[in-house]
Amino acid sequence: MPAPCSACGASPAALRRPKTGHALCRACFLAAFEEETHQAIVAGRLFRPGETVAIGASGGKDSTVLAHLLQLLDQRHSYGLHLLLLSVDEGIAGYRDASLAAVRRHQRRSGLPLHVVSYRQLYGWSMDRIARHLGPRNNCTFCGVFRRQALDRGALLMGADKIATGHNADDVAETVLMNFLRGDVGRLRRGVGTGPAGGEGAVPRCKPLRHAYEKEIVLYAYFQGLDYFSTECVYAPQAYRGYARALLKELEAVRPSAVADLGHSGERLSLRSDLRMPARGTCQRCGYVASQPLCKACVLLEGLDRGLPKLGIGKHRRLRDKLRDGEPLTQEERRRLGAPAEGEPPEEQEPRGELGTDEEPWGRRELRGPQDLDF
Ligand SMILES: [Zn+2]
Ligand SMILES: [Zn+2]
Repeated sequence: MPAPCSACGASPAALRRPKTGHALCRACFLAAFEEETHQAIVAGRLFRPGETVAIGASGGKDSTVLAHLLQLLDQRHSYGLHLLLLSVDEGIAGYRDASLAAVRRHQRRSGLPLHVVSYRQLYGWSMDRIARHLGPRNNCTFCGVFRRQALDRGALLMGADKIATGHNADDVAETVLMNFLRGDVGRLRRGVGTGPAGGEGAVPRCKPLRHAYEKEIVLYAYFQGLDYFSTECVYAPQAYRGYARALLKELEAVRPSAVADLGHSGERLSLRSDLRMPARGTCQRCGYVASQPLCKACVLLEGLDRGLPKLGIGKHRRLRDKLRDGEPLTQEERRRLGAPAEGEPPEEQEPRGELGTDEEPWGRRELRGPQDLDF
């Protein structure tokens, strides 16, 4: 006979909460989890009445729980939000098509509007094609940069005031740990993004589940019977984040509050006021926010379009300068930038999405048509 629930004392406990250690019944756990999310939304002033909120929906557990909770709490507490689902199709066969199917099932059940933006449509390159050019490493660099912009562009297209993402307490703690270990002050300052306008993109972002433990999100999805997709991406996850994640799991096993504490440290960290932060400008090519003349996505795209996929990653400044000045690269230099070896067959062309054009590969990418994604 299991112990009684420590909250209601009536029902038998169904679980021990990973965050607090309390033994709770199913109903009390669900209620506590929902109330804590509501409190986080209120305390962080994440939303204003009347706002249109695009929920970044990947089909995974975090964003599925987020979409379910926002809809439920919006009704329960009358936030007055217009909620939308926004998905990014990276073009990863066997992974994203299956997870998008989970998003579509959620869309049908919830009745929320759904919009999907694809890498192929926005950039002319699917992740599968990028990976064929690039080889097994660095795919996550491309994917991360492209996804950030894709979410912004999709949100603008849908007229959203805000993007809500499913980042949980573990994600936040991992990011704090990783940026701290790397001494990445800029990301430490921006990354935690506690306020309503946290983040660096064009549309303000918020993380309503930033205090929710990953384990509790899994439990919540399980007890609510939510349908989500749970396979890892076919491309290897970012190696360094993997170490931060493993370290965090070890710390959590010793002391469960480590997850929350690290997130708290990230919020409370005070940085020297005389540290120079990169200036925020706009990309000369696409108009997206950038601290350099070209945004990171445009630099990566230029490398892909030139057949030198590694141009935008790593320390290739001298070679980038040579290219900019119109100087030819040697075979060896081209090889270092990921060009195929002599005699290798050229890769088959993938038709550009209906919104891109082939005529202006170096110019500003005009995204014409009724769905004008440019801004
Ligand atoms: Zn109970
Ligand atoms: Zn750009």
